[in-house]
Amino acid sequence: MRTARRIENLPPYLFVEISRKIAERRAQGEDVISLAVGDPDIPTPRHVIARLCQAAQDPQNHRYPESEGLPEFRHAISQWYERRFSVTLDPDREVLPLIGAKEGIGHIALCFIDPGDIALVPNPAYPVYSIGTMFAGGSSHYMPLTEDNDFLPDLDRIPGDIARKAKIMWINYPNNPTAAVAEPDFFERVVAFAKKYDIAVCHDGPYTEVAFDGYRPVSFLEATGAMEAGVEFHSLSKSYNMTGWRVGMMVGNAGIIDALRRVKSNLDSGIPQAIQHAAIEALTGPQDCVSEHNAIYQRRRDRLLQTLSQIGLNAKPPRASLYIWARVPDGYTSLEFATSLLEEAGVVVTPGTSYGKHGEGYIRLSLTIPDERLEEALTRLTAWHKQKLT
Ligand SMILES: *Cc1c(COP(=O)(O)O)cnc(C)c1O
Repeated sequence: MRTARRIENLPPYLFVEISRKIAERRAQGEDVISLAVGDPDIPTPRHVIARLCQAAQDPQNHRYPESEGLPEFRHAISQWYERRFSVTLDPDREVLPLIGAKEGIGHIALCFIDPGDIALVPNPAYPVYSIGTMFAGGSSHYMPLTEDNDFLPDLDRIPGDIARKAKIMWINYPNNPTAAVAEPDFFERVVAFAKKYDIAVCHDGPYTEVAFDGYRPVSFLEATGAMEAGVEFHSLSKSYNMTGWRVGMMVGNAGIIDALRRVKSNLDSGIPQAIQHAAIEALTGPQDCVSEHNAIYQRRRDRLLQTLSQIGLNAKPPRASLYIWARVPDGYTSLEFATSLLEEAGVVVTPGTSYGKHGEGYIRLSLTIPDERLEEALTRLTAWHKQKLT
């Protein structure tokens, strides 16, 4: 059998060596603690599950859903955007439910990228932006996210000939993996750039609800002109601990929404309806759970930062997202440092290079780990550091 080049061209999974070592250690009965996954450990809120169970009983929800989602779900999404961001969306033309944001992020390349086309993609970044581009036959021009540019792409450094060829630009704030946030003025500069070069902006925003110290992240669509320039991907995964149910949305420019709707109607048959009803409940029901979860993450963030600074790892306290992006000590690469934490402390972190070469020099630590496991991980890190000193 001969597989397609797009399969052979998939980049090597940098975490593969670590994954093998984790499996080996667990097989030997060793207790390995993972701070590597961005998947909320707290269950989906009870009222959301109750609605899901009730909806599952209704035979109307046993049949094929519509690819573009239930009208009442699209309506709930537009109401939520109005309440949360004061962004007005037409539920029929400017809202498209997705089988998780990842599904749409992967498929949108099919709407814009022909073989040979260019996408502007941050680096480090969520890998789906560049993989989707590659699957559609295009290539990624990487925009480095560094401490010097506050992890915001430097638009002036994008060469003019690349910008003119580019069809689409990816941005993501609050950011995974760097935990950086963006303010409206950055989004406005992106809109101006996109209009100048006729580029569609795809803003990935699944972490706007996961924020600390009273900070409220903005939506890309709040920026002047954003509705003409692009779309925003959002998700119930991180806001409501619903990663397992697979439900998200794309909102914004009606032309882009229509293009992805057409692609999707030829590929999938939508989100199971009982899950759409659960999502409506999440968006329109009581919202106390969001701040309760954030208080838990904030406490974990502070515990982790305290230990990191004691063991000589520098990290800026994140104002949002589920991650801490920490500099590794001098003398280590990201991968070497992650490997030594695994081998010598039994703690897993993600090497920054898993998200692209500009992630070198960093590790990502996730806040989605139960408190008592986090405390155990911190004890191990402290003991590991002490032993390193002697
Ligand atoms: C978690 C995550 C997503 C995916 O969300 P789903 O709705 O669960 O598919 C998309 N983008 C980023 C940056 C993420 O971290």
